[in-house]
Formats: sequence, structure tokens, C-alpha cells
Amino acid sequence: MSSTTTPGAGEAPSFEKMSVCVHCGLCLEACPTYRELRVEMDSPRGRIYLMKGLLQNKIAPTPTVLKHLDQCLDCRACETACPSGVEYGVILESTRTVLQPQRPMSPWGRLVRWFVFSLLLPSRAAQRIVLKLLWLQQALGLAAIGAWLGRHKLLPGRLSAAATQAPQIARRSFRAANAGKKSADGRTLTFPARGTRRHRVALFTGCLADQLFAEVNEATVVVLTENGCEVDVLTDERCCGALHLHNGARDAARDLARDNIRLFNAGGYDAVVSNAAGCSAELRHYGALLDGDPAAQAFGGKLRDISEYLCEIGWTPPTGAGVPVKVAYDEPCHLLHAQKISAPPKTILQGVPGVTLVPLEDADTCCGSAGVYSLLQPALASAIGNKKIAAIGRSGADIVATGNPGCLMQIRNGVKAAGLAVRVMHPVELLADAYRRAGGTS
Ligand code: SF4
Ligand code: SF4
Repeated sequence: MSSTTTPGAGEAPSFEKMSVCVHCGLCLEACPTYRELRVEMDSPRGRIYLMKGLLQNKIAPTPTVLKHLDQCLDCRACETACPSGVEYGVILESTRTVLQPQRPMSPWGRLVRWFVFSLLLPSRAAQRIVLKLLWLQQALGLAAIGAWLGRHKLLPGRLSAAATQAPQIARRSFRAANAGKKSADGRTLTFPARGTRRHRVALFTGCLADQLFAEVNEATVVVLTENGCEVDVLTDERCCGALHLHNGARDAARDLARDNIRLFNAGGYDAVVSNAAGCSAELRHYGALLDGDPAAQAFGGKLRDISEYLCEIGWTPPTGAGVPVKVAYDEPCHLLHAQKISAPPKTILQGVPGVTLVPLEDADTCCGSAGVYSLLQPALASAIGNKKIAAIGRSGADIVATGNPGCLMQIRNGVKAAGLAVRVMHPVELLADAYRRAGGTS
């Protein structure tokens, strides 16, 4: 991986950043893949050794080396555990960007990569078509047949894993359901505050999540408007670019970031609110992605996770007795490790009438979802996910709350496969339900 001759080499992680690692090994037991495999090269320390060797041309990007790097979840638990402040996520993502052009790839692999990163994620129109087709095959019962075939490993390659993980698809996206809220100039869907307007915010709805998690976006609007926020949803919002960045497509991630920064900064909002940890971790760090660009820094400075924002503005908890329910909170990696947000979601949950928070073992450990990891590394993702599901079973919770679409999908699939009578919800859904019960927004 020469830093002067390799395509994309300008993105190479710096030797200085890697040299911050003093090989103490204190991160090892925090790493889900090390805990699973007990292989040094599948630990943060081992992977930093490999990435440093690649940068110095002392190690070649052999299939074995790439396998160890590909098996990393990019969960960043190692960053939280590291006393030396190693920026593992930055190092890994830079390495993946530099390695991407060197990877041998079949024509089919190239086609899939082009379809996902260049067509599907950047285009809301393409998403609409694909999700409509998926909804149709769900309505015709084909998704259930596919899931059965997948569970019995009767589909080729990774299709079995993909079929078993297929999410439930709502008939209408959040945006389609709220088309009547469109402003006169067509640039926003606008939801007025209940009572006096105290804040004006933009909600980042996500691209695929707009349809796959329409109910979470609806709930987010409810809790924001209940707390004096006028909420705008931008019709031209682009994908956040997180999946691009995690998979070595940094230039495409930058293009998406520039569009989002221009669109959202023009609105002059008090805050840009996200309910998806994977998106917010990326959006918050646009400044670093664009080398300190002031507009990107300004955008990142306004970015808030929904629970963080509610706590910041002094939210008003719902009234009423509520329904008694035991809730376990699972910490999304990109909220806890990438944004260091842990207390606000729990504060929100504790404010929901009827909720009793119960402890969840290893709540700070990845569930195995990690973007498209569960599709690309199904065996390891499943082994890591099974530990999460077993811990959920032992918690005695009625509901698991977690604030990221990937985690919601992975845990929902896991509890269903394990036959657990546990609901899996975003914290804002519990809060929105409580406001609705208390006679607020319907
Ligand atoms: S990444 Fe941090 S915790 Fe892990 S070995 Fe290096 S210095 Fe130690
Ligand atoms: S990002 Fe997660 S999986 Fe990767 S080395 Fe760090 S702790 Fe392990």
C-alpha cells in the first residue's frame, strides 16, 4: 500500500495516528471479534499492526490480511476502551479507502457495489422503486418463503443470510404518508409545534429508513412537536454517506456530505436532529470528512441525536400512569462509541410513565449488525448477535429499546428466531406512545 503510487493513496491513514497505539492490549476484551475468535489479528491491536505494515509496505494486502480487516465491525468499542486515544475508526476507514481499488472483484461484485453505492443509496427515486418491489414480494408471501429457504440454507451464497434478515416493509414511506405537509415551494414537509413554537429544527429522516422505519420518523416528529419544535423534513435530503465511508467509497461520501451541508445550512435551523445512530455519527463528523471545511463544521455543530436534543432543550415528560413494562436499553455502537452518548436515551426512557429500566449484560457490545456487515459476514455477525439475544433473554425485559435502524433489524430478527416474546423498539416510539396516551399528538 504505497502512499505515493496507489490510487486513493492521499487518503492513507497517517503513520503518527497509528503510532499512538502502544500495544498495551487493554482494548482486546472490548472487541467483539476478538472475544469470538481469540485471534490476535482479529483484535484492534492486531489490526493496527496489519494496517501499519500495509502503510509501510512491509505487509502485502493478501486475502488473509484483507479477511482480518473485513471481519472488523467498525463498532469502535476499542476507541472507548483505549487509554491512549487511538482513533481506530479513522484509521480503519482510511485504510479501507486506500485498499478498495486494489481488491480483486468479480464483475458481479462490481455490479452490486455500483448498484448499492452509486445508484440505490444516492437516489430516492431508485429507493422508491426497489422498496415497492420488495413490498410487493412481501405482500405476495414471497418474502416469507425466502426467509424459510434462507433459514434452511437452501439459497445460494449470501442470499440465505439476506433472505432471513429481510426487514418488514411499510406500505408507505414516512414522506409519502406526509405528502400533504409539503410547503408552497416544495422544499420541505413542515410539522408545526404543538402550542408555542420554541425551536425550529430539521429532521434527518435517512434514506432507506424513510420507508423501513417510517414509524420511528413519525414518533420523532411527535416527540419534537410535543416539546415546542417546528419540524422541517427536507425533500432533497441525501443519504448521509456512512455506508459509503465504511466501505471505502470516500469520494462518494464527500459528494453526499456537500449536498446535505448546503441544503441544511441554508435552512438556518436551531438543530439538525437524527434518530439513527449510524447516520448521526457520520453527519456529526462531516467536518473531518471534508478536512475542516467551515460549512461542514457548522453543520456538524448543529447535529444532535434525538435523545441528546430533548435533554438539551429541557423536554417535558408525558403525564399519566402509563403501562407497566420492563425495558432493557441496548447501546448502539455509533451512539455510544462514536458519539459518546449514553445517558440521554436512558433519561428519556426513565421519563416514560410505566417504564422500569432493567439491566442488560454487555449492553455496550455490538449486536453484529454494523451496516451491511451482517450480510457480508453472516456467520460472525450471527455468532455475535446470538450472544446479544441470549443476554436479552436473561434480562427478563418485555421490550428492548435501541436507537439505530441496523440494530433494530438485527435484534428483531434475533428475538424472532429465538422465539422470545420481546418487542424491539426505538426509545422515541415508547415516548411518542406515552404522549399519545396522555392525550397529546395523535
Ligand atoms: S489500541 Fe489502545 S488499548 Fe488497544 S493496544 Fe493500542 S494503545 Fe492499547
Ligand atoms: S472496531 Fe470493533 S470489531 Fe473492529 S477492532 Fe475495534 S472493537 Fe474490534
